[in-house]
Amino acid sequence: MSELVAPSSDTMGERRRRVVTAMLRAAYAWSMRQEQPEAMREVARMTGFVMEAHGPGSGPDTPLALVDALRRPLGTLPIFAEAGGSGDEGLRRVVLIEAGEGGDQLSATAHDLVCEHVIPLDAEADAHSWLPSWTRMDADRIRARAFAAMAGPSDQHIYVASRRLLIEHPAGLERTLQERVGESGARIVPGGYRPIPDSALFRTRNGDGWWWPCPDCRWPMGVAGRRVRCRYQPHSAMFEVAKRRGSEKPKLTRIDEGPTVKQPEARPARGSVCVDQGVWRFIVVPGSSELRIAARLEKLGAKVELWPQMDSYDLHVAIGGTELQLDVKEYRSPQRLIADLRGRTPRAQVRVVLPQTHEMQAETVRAALPEITLLTERGLVQQIRRIGKGIEERKDAGGK
Ligand SMILES: [Zn+2]
Repeated sequence: MSELVAPSSDTMGERRRRVVTAMLRAAYAWSMRQEQPEAMREVARMTGFVMEAHGPGSGPDTPLALVDALRRPLGTLPIFAEAGGSGDEGLRRVVLIEAGEGGDQLSATAHDLVCEHVIPLDAEADAHSWLPSWTRMDADRIRARAFAAMAGPSDQHIYVASRRLLIEHPAGLERTLQERVGESGARIVPGGYRPIPDSALFRTRNGDGWWWPCPDCRWPMGVAGRRVRCRYQPHSAMFEVAKRRGSEKPKLTRIDEGPTVKQPEARPARGSVCVDQGVWRFIVVPGSSELRIAARLEKLGAKVELWPQMDSYDLHVAIGGTELQLDVKEYRSPQRLIADLRGRTPRAQVRVVLPQTHEMQAETVRAALPEITLLTERGLVQQIRRIGKGIEERKDAGGK
């Protein structure tokens, strides 16, 4: 292929994202085709997008061929095999549709990793309201929409209270949540809390629904048969519903050997609500790491400000004359993180922090972007601890 006709890597990256988005939307629609009359029309529309990105004579060219492709790894699509193949091995391995107990369903990675690659396909992206936001809008758009509702008249105090409330209470009893909103003065995103989705409910024999908050992010964990776990894979605790007689409140047993966590207790579906999946994935998930890091640093004596100047970065940390501006970056795909950091390089004084669950990405990101100051959560905590110790020692010396 001559260099003149080879697409630039940017164009290729963009075309691949369009294909990934169309495949995810088609997979979601396919998994909903019993309930949603518009579903097959969406699969057909998405076939058009996949064909357009591939060009003539390559890639699935009918809705049925597309559905077939949903059951194979994304990497088998011709667009991933072309020159300048995507370095994103994780994405190439993704299979979007798996056979489940109740028929075809979206795979775990669809919920967790693929949504990081979504870009709006057309102006209609917003109009198709039956599709959830995380299948058709990028993370920035989902966040921007939510934050615009929280910030109100550009009030930093209301903004922080609202964002904190969402992160700390992404699900719960509607009555309790309403009280909390009232007390804190927070503003909640339009459409804010909604009923717990069926895919997060376990039904006892009398038909009552129950859900469990994830020990890490507090959002309802996904339920598949008796298996229960958070849809975000780095929140790795896995549970099984213990067999009990009749319609008693169900109980979980831990089935993996990860670090000890507090055993979640079943909550009744009736009267319970949770934030939408897009808000959970792109605000609550990273937010729970931001709040955890802030709390760790405060414990070491630092003063931490959350999302200063209406979110110009994540954390402002001050301790003994040292001030740090930090942006916590939590991406499942390091390639997506690198691409986003390239597209929008943080200001020189802002350091990028990888939370403890993502520290293994440090080497890849440093190699790709040597100009960025990158810290791991562990490295950051050590640095603040050293400064805190120095202050203590000087105090002791001064007191003698
Ligand atoms: Zn979780």
